[in-house]
Amino acid sequence: AQHFMGRIQRHADLGAFLATDAEVTLAQAREADQRLAAGDPAALLGVPVAHKDIFVTRGFPTTAGSRMLAGYRSPFDATVVARLAQAGAVTLGKLSCDEFAMGSSNENSAFGPVKNPWDTTRIPGGSSGGSGAAVAAGLAPAATGTDTGGSIRQPAAFCGITGIKPTYGRASRYGMIAYASSLDQAGPMARTAEDCALLLSAMCGPDPDRDSTSLDASAEDFTRALGGSLAGLRIGLPREFFGEGLAPDVRAAIDAALAEYRRLGAELVEVSLPLTELSIPVYYIIAPAEASSNLSRFDGVKFGHRAREFTDLLDMYKKTRAQGFGDEVKRRIMVGTYVLSHGYYDAYYLQAQKIRRMIADDFRRAFESCDLIAGPVAPSVAWKLGDKADDPVANYLADIFTLPASLAGLPGMSIPCGFGEGGMPVGLQLIGNYFGEGRLLQAAHAYQ
Ligand code: GLN
Repeated sequence: AQHFMGRIQRHADLGAFLATDAEVTLAQAREADQRLAAGDPAALLGVPVAHKDIFVTRGFPTTAGSRMLAGYRSPFDATVVARLAQAGAVTLGKLSCDEFAMGSSNENSAFGPVKNPWDTTRIPGGSSGGSGAAVAAGLAPAATGTDTGGSIRQPAAFCGITGIKPTYGRASRYGMIAYASSLDQAGPMARTAEDCALLLSAMCGPDPDRDSTSLDASAEDFTRALGGSLAGLRIGLPREFFGEGLAPDVRAAIDAALAEYRRLGAELVEVSLPLTELSIPVYYIIAPAEASSNLSRFDGVKFGHRAREFTDLLDMYKKTRAQGFGDEVKRRIMVGTYVLSHGYYDAYYLQAQKIRRMIADDFRRAFESCDLIAGPVAPSVAWKLGDKADDPVANYLADIFTLPASLAGLPGMSIPCGFGEGGMPVGLQLIGNYFGEGRLLQAAHAYQ
């Protein structure tokens, strides 16, 4: 823990951490030492882990990257945080992210951008940008992230590390500040698939009393899935993931990775996900709709920011929210409120829900002829800070390859597979069938 705390300080200019507390961290480390000495067999005893600032964490502030929650301290731990602590993990601190996890570049954080350690003039990806940068720069051996539409996979790809989003419902959402509840999932970001397997095993498991969407699937030891041959594994390549929008440098790295998979014994088959393009409008209706509802709790009454001067209750709500939320969050609340409003609900929200179902059906058909799906995580490598900062739609479009699996609730993973333009890392995306985490991790491990 001391080693990483030193590195966090030396590389503070990356902006990856929003909060650290040496006393809390060292107390946890000492406790882990005692458990170790007492023969406790927990898998992560003494392993330092940092948490995305979306997870409420006792002993540290939790802001969700928003001015709305500046200085907020939770009286309890998110289930994922508690489960990692039970497994022996030591908390290094809280990691920067886009405000309420809304973004693809970490530039929507109220507390400043995060720099990509591979090239500090570039974004680390988002919304778990702090997690990606911290692991890539060796400020933490592993971190938690959350993925609503790609926020684990895309920053993992842009920072050259490994990340996995499990099947929706595998990890409890309790204590994860809600963005779009039907999509939000927690997962680990680390250097290798093996490390991710260790963390994911601790993070997953039912939590029926606290998250009604948590699945009744018992915790698994995913490290047991590692090893073994890939002979006969059918990897599906969706035609729509390899079209015009894909940058040639990314394409070349993905092709080389796929050739390696063939050498490892896998068989490559073409599949089709015809509604891939529609995943962007569908996601950017459903996610803001849910966000507009989830974020109504930030009203200045129960917790977080409250405007100093106001005339009456309504004025207090208005001023609090005007001051507390950033531009992107306000944009999504407005879009979400609009698509849910009477007269527009059928035209937008209902249609989006129907197409969401059809996207899931397309995956079901694709998995009839393959065991795993592979493709790019993002159409390009990490772009320059500021390049798309004033263009929300350009950010949305860059999510095209991660949104389909999110909408279907499928597990997805990003593994480093070489370098593209500017020497920046490229990520290969692997998408599994429901509960296919073990197979994903096995395939990733074999390649690594
Ligand atoms: N980039 C997507 C968005 O802005 C996904 C974010 C996420 O997965 N949290 O909503």
